[in-house]
Amino acid sequence: MTAGRLALEVVTRSPSETRGVGAAIAAVIAPGDVVLLSGELGAGKTVLTKGLVAALGGGEATTSPTFTLCHVYPSVPPVAHVDCYRVGPADDVADLALDELLEDGAVVVVEWGERLPGSLGADALECRISSPGALPLPADERLITLTSPAAAWSARAAALAAALARAGPGAVRPGEPGGGTAP
Ligand code: ADP
Ligand code: MG
Repeated sequence: MTAGRLALEVVTRSPSETRGVGAAIAAVIAPGDVVLLSGELGAGKTVLTKGLVAALGGGEATTSPTFTLCHVYPSVPPVAHVDCYRVGPADDVADLALDELLEDGAVVVVEWGERLPGSLGADALECRISSPGALPLPADERLITLTSPAAAWSARAAALAAALARAGPGAVRPGEPGGGTAP
């Protein structure tokens, strides 16, 4: 049996429901995982991250001494929260030593993940937050799609869907054909 590629969609109707999506991801996260968040300003990337970090035990973030674009939370596992909004081609994200943090068992969560240079996000869980209808973003509804090309995430698709259902946001459905529903 081959598990399909992870592809789930959920609609949230409040910031707290989006925090719940972060908590659901936290329920299945493993040390060394990378989560890439995309969506325009105000989509809810930070809200989702806060839910994820809080569910893992949160704590006060320590700011990287050299880069304010990375905060490390002493959760279990630790979460390195990176914001690539202002990362340009000339910026050396390598200096953040994210690969070393991952090897040490941290989870790396990246806002504007599509701007993360290099291959660190190749096996990541990708969370795209957008409007359920036409833009602009509505006041309180968000469409969140969770996808990954990685087998490690396909294997967790059912657990993630169950955690999302427990978290209580709107209907969870397979995001696209081949989303892992085959027996
Ligand atoms: P980003 O980090 O993507 O720029 P933020 O998480 O900082 O966005 O902000 C999201 C904003 O949208 C917050 O002001 C939040 O209160 C609001 N909001 C309204 N509805 C939702 C929702 N369903 N999910 C997340 N945020 C929402
Ligand atoms: Mg943000």
